Amino acid sequence: MEFTPLDQIDKIHVELRSGFNSGKLKSLAYRKYQILQLGYLVQDNAERFNDALASDLGRPTLENNFLEIGPSIGDTKQAYQNVEKWSKPEKPAFSLNFTAMRPVVRKEPKGVVLIISPFNYPLWLTIGPVAGALAAGNAVAIKPSENTPAVSSLLAELVPKYLDQDLVRVVNGSIPETTKLLELQWDHILYTGSGRVGKIVAAAAAKHLTPVTLELGGKSPVVIDPNCDLETAARRILWGKVANAGQTCVAPDYILVPRDFQDTFADALKNTYDKFYPESAKPSVSGAYARLITPQAFTRVNALLKGTKGTVVFGGETDEATKYIQPTVVKDVQPDDTLMSEEIFGPILPIVPVKDIDEAIAFINARDHPLALYVFSSDNAVKAKVFDNTQSGAAIANEVLIHPGVDGLPFGGIGPSGSGYHTGKYTFDIFTHLRASMDSPSWVDKILAARYPPYTTKKVNA
Ligand code: NAD
Repeated sequence: MEFTPLDQIDKIHVELRSGFNSGKLKSLAYRKYQILQLGYLVQDNAERFNDALASDLGRPTLENNFLEIGPSIGDTKQAYQNVEKWSKPEKPAFSLNFTAMRPVVRKEPKGVVLIISPFNYPLWLTIGPVAGALAAGNAVAIKPSENTPAVSSLLAELVPKYLDQDLVRVVNGSIPETTKLLELQWDHILYTGSGRVGKIVAAAAAKHLTPVTLELGGKSPVVIDPNCDLETAARRILWGKVANAGQTCVAPDYILVPRDFQDTFADALKNTYDKFYPESAKPSVSGAYARLITPQAFTRVNALLKGTKGTVVFGGETDEATKYIQPTVVKDVQPDDTLMSEEIFGPILPIVPVKDIDEAIAFINARDHPLALYVFSSDNAVKAKVFDNTQSGAAIANEVLIHPGVDGLPFGGIGPSGSGYHTGKYTFDIFTHLRASMDSPSWVDKILAARYPPYTTKKVNA
């Protein structure tokens, strides 16, 4: 992959600023044209993106279409269709005191924004944010992940062909290039990735008082109530862990299950696994299972697996040469296990036995607020108890992984799992300044004349 020369980055920044200042994006029609082009960029090249995603992540076509290419096109369509509605000035609720001053909230772009994306959904987590930023009228610098060279190169090739270069640019590179970008002044930064780098981004942004949205990760727990649809729960949870080989920010990270139900649940996961991969999950055999993104990622996840003191229920096969880690379920995992030491971000699913739902809730509350919290139960009281007594980015019953793509739901973390919300209108909001505005006629002074000096006793006592 060709990295953007460091000395070009300043120039790109300056050019984007003058692109924004040109006022081209004040025209909603031009915003729509750019968003449409963004949609075509993905749609016309869907096959090339599919190949690039397969090359970078070894990811099966079905997952590419369902989790990345489809949602990317969907986000551009949604932004295209809603630009006028979202951008419309809003009148605050009627207030007799101020209505004559014609208060209104203008929806204005923040300016020139930076979008830094991660490797795991390199297309969707770039295209969705760019669509929202353009809908709001911003010029955009995109920094894709260096760990997905095929997708990042394709973006660098296509963006100039489809989009106005005064308004959207790609900067490719790794730490030096991102560090250079972060030295510059942006009007908003949307960063998606790990909390470790999130802190670097937030600290750099603070130097310029730049607002930031941080879409981070963490360990998303799954609480299992024995009173649940066992087969569905096992099927959905295992899918959430094998999709993209577990490299999903909202993948179920670990399971909390009442001790005496652990084996039943582990058996259900094993039955599901046998149905998912009747021969083998190895990419060369099934062609239907992604691999770890880099040798370093393989080494990290493999070390977590090798270090566990739990009992492997199934899986455990690894192949360093192809960065393959078999979907693996481990039971009887203790809180101090290697598998509980950090976000797994790989296809290993630890089961932590607990006494009951109360202990599961206490376990969750003793740790960082997760990005997602899942509960599988057929009992509304159990669902409510888990949701009402915990905090997390999202609270989902009887489903996994899908909620970031659900229209109208905000997607974001809380505390260490992030701050700010995106997708759809929420993305538009990230990149929009709510500019308070009024236009007060002269005759208002007939009513409010008392505000002016001299502050006579008569006025004070009125
Ligand atoms: P990462 O933090 O390693 O990298 C993301 C981006 O940061 C890349 O563009 C990279 O170039 C840049 N970067 C890396 N190191 C840097 C440094 N030292 N200084 C400046 N920039 C640097 O994240 P990743 O490994 O690509 O993604 C995995 C993480 O992202 C997981 O924790 C996952 O949970 C999280 N994630 C969160 C969401 C969400 O929406 N909340 C979505 C996807 C992934």
